[in-house]
Amino acid sequence: MTATHHEKNGHPVTHINGHAVSHLSARATALRPTDLPLNGAATSASVAEQIAGDAPQVDLQAAQRAAAAFLQALGLDLQNEELRETPARMTQAFAELFDGHPPRLTTFPNDEGYDELVLARAIPFRTVCEHHLLPFSGVAHVAYLPGERLLGLSKLARIVEFLAARPQTQERLTRQLADYLAAELTAPWAGAVLEAEHTCMTLRGVRAQGSKTVTTALAGPLRADPQHRAEFLAMTGAQS
Ligand code: ZN
Repeated sequence: MTATHHEKNGHPVTHINGHAVSHLSARATALRPTDLPLNGAATSASVAEQIAGDAPQVDLQAAQRAAAAFLQALGLDLQNEELRETPARMTQAFAELFDGHPPRLTTFPNDEGYDELVLARAIPFRTVCEHHLLPFSGVAHVAYLPGERLLGLSKLARIVEFLAARPQTQERLTRQLADYLAAELTAPWAGAVLEAEHTCMTLRGVRAQGSKTVTTALAGPLRADPQHRAEFLAMTGAQS
């Protein structure tokens, strides 16, 4: 067995026999900054890093071979002219869906002392459900209460895009958005509401066409504040 260690995007990565070992449990666990001792930026930064996780190690050729084997096992004839390139296209499509990079978060000092919610409404997102690898998509409403720093507005959409670029459940994506915002900005309060349609529910299974799933998550030391919660939910227009 050979083991090597290096840093990728600032995160330690371990390779054992050429395979990257990532801390999937850290990525899969919804962490709440409010559950951790409030001892400042170091804790917040590590929460955001754990949510971000390690950059995935991608082997496109292996994925393409596996896609071909998978489709053949389902009885598809890959010698057929129309399907010949499908394993390659399928691989590219999934690689694109999982291609997320942590955004550089441009922040500005909150010199005017702005102390109301900053909300980005109806940010479109798409991801895939981790149970069926079928797409689900919809809109995200995200908000935070500024502390000492304000975030460049386009960055809220970048955070949504980044955390959606991996197999997800809607519940976890919502939780991660709120926690990531609160942690990265050391914001006293952050919230996320997602409204999404899941193709694993609309195209197969119960075929509940047009049904929307709505999830809410709040984070930060003031997460329980009923006034911010009520104001946020009213601003999003979401029913929850
Ligand atoms: Zn599913």
